[in-house]
Amino acid sequence: MGTVPEYFGCLVFDDRVMKASLPADVYRSLRKTIDEGARLDSSVANAVATAMKDWAVAHGATHYTHWFQPLTGITAEKHDSFIYPSPDGGVIMEFSGKELIKGEPDASSFPSGGLRATFEARGYTAWDPTSYAFIKGKTLCIPTAFCSYGGEALDKKTPLLRSMKALNKQAMRILRLFGNDTVKCVRTSVGPEQEYFLIAKEMYDRRPDLRFTGRTLFGAKAPKGQEMDDHYFGVIKPRVAAFMEELNEELWKLGILAKTEHNEVAPAQHELAPIYSTTNIATDHNQLTMEIMQKVAAKHGLVCLLHEKPFAGVNGSGKHNNWSMATDTGTNLLSPGDTPYENAQFLLFLCAVIKAVDDYQDLLRLSVATAGNDHRLGANEAPPAVISIFLGDELTGVLEAIETGTPYNGAEKKQMKLGVDVLPRFNRDTTDRNRTSPFAFTGNKFEFRMLGSSNSIACANIMLNSAVAESLKIYADRLEGAEDFETTLHEMIRKTIKDHKRIIFNGNGYDDAWIKEATERRGLHNYPTTPDCMPHLLDKKNIDMLTAHGVYSQAELKSRCEIMLENYCKAVTIEANTMVTMAKTEIVPAVEAYAMEVAKAAAAKKALEAGLACSYESALIRKLSALTDKIAVKADELEEAVLALHTAQDVIAQANAIRDTVLIKMRELRVPCDEAETLTAKKYWPYPTYGDLLFSVN
Ligand code: ADP
Ligand code: MG
Repeated sequence: MGTVPEYFGCLVFDDRVMKASLPADVYRSLRKTIDEGARLDSSVANAVATAMKDWAVAHGATHYTHWFQPLTGITAEKHDSFIYPSPDGGVIMEFSGKELIKGEPDASSFPSGGLRATFEARGYTAWDPTSYAFIKGKTLCIPTAFCSYGGEALDKKTPLLRSMKALNKQAMRILRLFGNDTVKCVRTSVGPEQEYFLIAKEMYDRRPDLRFTGRTLFGAKAPKGQEMDDHYFGVIKPRVAAFMEELNEELWKLGILAKTEHNEVAPAQHELAPIYSTTNIATDHNQLTMEIMQKVAAKHGLVCLLHEKPFAGVNGSGKHNNWSMATDTGTNLLSPGDTPYENAQFLLFLCAVIKAVDDYQDLLRLSVATAGNDHRLGANEAPPAVISIFLGDELTGVLEAIETGTPYNGAEKKQMKLGVDVLPRFNRDTTDRNRTSPFAFTGNKFEFRMLGSSNSIACANIMLNSAVAESLKIYADRLEGAEDFETTLHEMIRKTIKDHKRIIFNGNGYDDAWIKEATERRGLHNYPTTPDCMPHLLDKKNIDMLTAHGVYSQAELKSRCEIMLENYCKAVTIEANTMVTMAKTEIVPAVEAYAMEVAKAAAAKKALEAGLACSYESALIRKLSALTDKIAVKADELEEAVLALHTAQDVIAQANAIRDTVLIKMRELRVPCDEAETLTAKKYWPYPTYGDLLFSVN
């Protein structure tokens, strides 16, 4: 296959291929579309389509698809072949500009949350030329946005692109105010660190809970878990190494910058981090990465679990979203500069993020809310459900000095007061890494750590971009009208610090005392579950902000809220039904069969020696019998709780009922089942145990 630089991106219709295969004028107009969002005229589209098709066919492709990201959270594709009948009875391979730019999948089976009436089933997909087309198997995949005929976004890419546009617009206003006339655009970049579990396929196949829900719903603790701290960064086992090697190759061929891989905290848990890229590309790439992880795992007799909490009692999986803003000229706007003037600009962008995170805590929280992630947030392994920002001591010191007008103990011990020229110089602080903060500044980027491993990163970035755009807009409005730029700037920075310092917390986010302080003293939101936070999507302040920046329409927001709550209800209902079935049809019969075997043993002993007490057997049978009674009762109660959901008036009521009854009954059913597992002979137990699952791959 050659060296990595030789095959990297070989399945991507990237800039190198475009340059080589397109006529110079076509290439130039396409570049203008990619870089500046200019409209593409139809002759250019036709030329691009033909070049794309020729390149794809030369690489063995027979089909093309508009690849999109509906609100199911996974990607969708409908394949069409390139064939076109020719008069002589044969076929030629054809692909037009029209087919490249627009597709018309039947939208009726994708969730729309009421956006698309069923009589108007059509939706359309529209090419996103900023994310390169690529080949998967025998199909040319064209990244697209997915909308209804009324123009409402039915996907995650459209609002993401809109949020990037909104942030670009406001950030450009700020840069112009700082006298920068050369920058053409500001883009956000993301590097998502992806956690996952790998387990043996033959064991996965024997667990209905894993197959139907992606997580174990039963399972007694294994004798060994993560207590020895021997897995994190540990030596990678041969089967896992072989998986990672093939995964890297597949990702590199697709132009995905897979960079870092290591074992994570829990047994069987691993992480993959790419080098960061522009947010919409990073999002596409992360979706592809998750898909390819599962495919490659299957080839190795493994299953890649992306669920946030596959196993109780050991760490779950998240996704750290490393986020920054940069100009097209390569300046990272979250990087402290060398001069006080650059630092003033840096501080303003920093303050924009601080204000955004405080003002829109609820949006950030709900952007990562799913039934799966609810098991993780606040469970002493992931950040709490309360959002706060870690800045580190140095930066916090700078902000305090500005707020109070006192000297800053950094390099320059100057009195800090109004005026840009006296804002301090300070060094980048990358050493102090706080792992417990949900939103941490790490030197030149923010790391948002609440995302679940299976989440599309689109949602979190839509909210982050939009909220920061809003802060920047407020700043730009004030500064553009200011008489004295420097005084106004300084005052604004100071006011932001004063108003929003409650969101800054450099201590241990896993500590219960913090949650108390955060909610009681600082008034920060604490929304532990999806039904607690999701309805806030429709709070007036959130609708106002998101519609003002053109990121979502009100109808789109309503539909998102509905779909996210529906997804929550469906996910938990499937789990509950799976538990009932497993308990009634496999666990109880297994325990009964084992009790019968024990009873037979006792009877045999008594036959040998009349009057023998058989106290061990009697006690065990009594215990097992008490457990099966309890399991039967709890399974019935859970079943009833699920049935009662039908009486809920709307999806919010249903989600609340799930939180307040179904999830509790699920926990109650699990207890006697897990206890029965520890008392039942292994050969009778119907499922691979936690020990089997977590230590199955060598
Ligand atoms: P860790 O958090 O495990 O220490 P790293 O510091 O190696 O991880 O970086 C994690 C991710 O952050 C990588 O994907 C990296 O490419 C990304 N990253 C680095 N710089 C930036 C930046 N300026 N903007 C966005 N992401 C970045
Ligand atoms: Mg990290």
